[in-house]
Amino acid sequence: MPTSSPIRAARGVRDILPAERAAWAAVERAARQSARGFGYQEIEVPVIEPVELIERGVGGDTDIFRKEIYRLETHGDSEDEPGARLVLRPEATASVVRAYFQGGLNQGPQPVRLFTIGPMFRHDRPQFGRYRQFSQFDVEVVGDPSPACDVEVIEMTWGWLAALGLGSVSLELNSIGDDRCRPAYLRLLQDYYRPLRDRLHPDCQRRVDENPLRLFDCKEEQCQPFKAAAPRIIDHLCEPCATAFAEVKALLDAAGLEYRLNPYLVRGLDYYTRTVFEFQHGSLGGAQNALGGGGRYDGLAAALGYPDTPGVGFAGGIDRVALMVEQEAGEVPVPPAAVLVLPMEERLDAAAAQVGRLCRRAASAAVDYSRRSLRAKMRAADRSGARWAAIMNAEEAGRRVVQLRDLASGEQREVGWEDLPASLAGADGAGGPEASR
Ligand code: AMP
Repeated sequence: MPTSSPIRAARGVRDILPAERAAWAAVERAARQSARGFGYQEIEVPVIEPVELIERGVGGDTDIFRKEIYRLETHGDSEDEPGARLVLRPEATASVVRAYFQGGLNQGPQPVRLFTIGPMFRHDRPQFGRYRQFSQFDVEVVGDPSPACDVEVIEMTWGWLAALGLGSVSLELNSIGDDRCRPAYLRLLQDYYRPLRDRLHPDCQRRVDENPLRLFDCKEEQCQPFKAAAPRIIDHLCEPCATAFAEVKALLDAAGLEYRLNPYLVRGLDYYTRTVFEFQHGSLGGAQNALGGGGRYDGLAAALGYPDTPGVGFAGGIDRVALMVEQEAGEVPVPPAAVLVLPMEERLDAAAAQVGRLCRRAASAAVDYSRRSLRAKMRAADRSGARWAAIMNAEEAGRRVVQLRDLASGEQREVGWEDLPASLAGADGAGGPEASR
């Protein structure tokens, strides 16, 4: 008898079970293909980082840093690394830029094109499409200030979504200026919002003084009416920022990529300068409608204590993109194996294992060692999505043959064990184990 209630996953995190993992695998595979197609190289960065990386990179005043960071409790760190305070990463850009310098990638040919896929952690209120652990496809071009790189990142990541067959994806675009033009614009924005402060949501009342650009991120009903008349940063860009933005738009036009200018798009991270963009999907609701986004971050390297170095990047949400792939394409089927070996008696286990080994020379194969009846095994095989069943009785095992049954057509024929690899060649088609890797 269990003595306490069964243990469940922590709130806001989830298991990706095989049925859903298949869509994830398709999404990750398309991400790697798109990135490699543009010459991006894969990198791994730690899930654990010093808190300062996030504080100085993402920004100490962002919601991510103030409210959503998971801080780690550790044992004995104080002796090894006095003062080390560690967090679970909420995003990967700051880590990738740190790795670019720490690993000496800044010494080689520039720019450096990198991508990584992995889990991020944010302690946000869980809801559909928003989780406390989620996975991102993260893309970075470090070491080149050209607007052409901004457009390359957009083109590559749009290609990723298109390769997955996602319809109704739209691109939103804005420029949020840089150190030269943003401070004066922020003062204008504060002048506009200060007289309205009492009518704003409490979070926004604080933002007016502390981080006015964040006022545009607000989704509270009571703050919406004031946005329309607020000064827009694209009307206040300095000359170099305006020129860069014009070039981004011209290059998007030349590439045939459609976009919608959204003066309220500011994104939740402090490190962005100039171009910011977001891909949205029509059928994802409300605040969770972004599939991914990114922008230029020319000030990030210096904020982390490294030499001034330009960069541009993108982060796409694997969870949300996989949800959309499932919604549009239906469940991506992954049979546990292309061949199911079905021994009819217990004493055939060793022979069945050997037949499984031979099948695996050409296709994935699993053996049903259960003591169920053949009928029950056949029913399970039909339901599994496997392509073939290799049925074995004692007499046939003696002759080293199986009955190989095509589960779709019901056709069945006798095949010698040694001929199985040739008979099964190509059985792992789309949706097979290869496809899920
Ligand atoms: P961000 O790093 O906030 O720009 O997010 C980039 C993308 O990651 C978003 O567009 C989402 O697709 C995804 N994402 C961000 N936060 C979450 C979350 N809490 N749960 C699921 N996906 C997320």
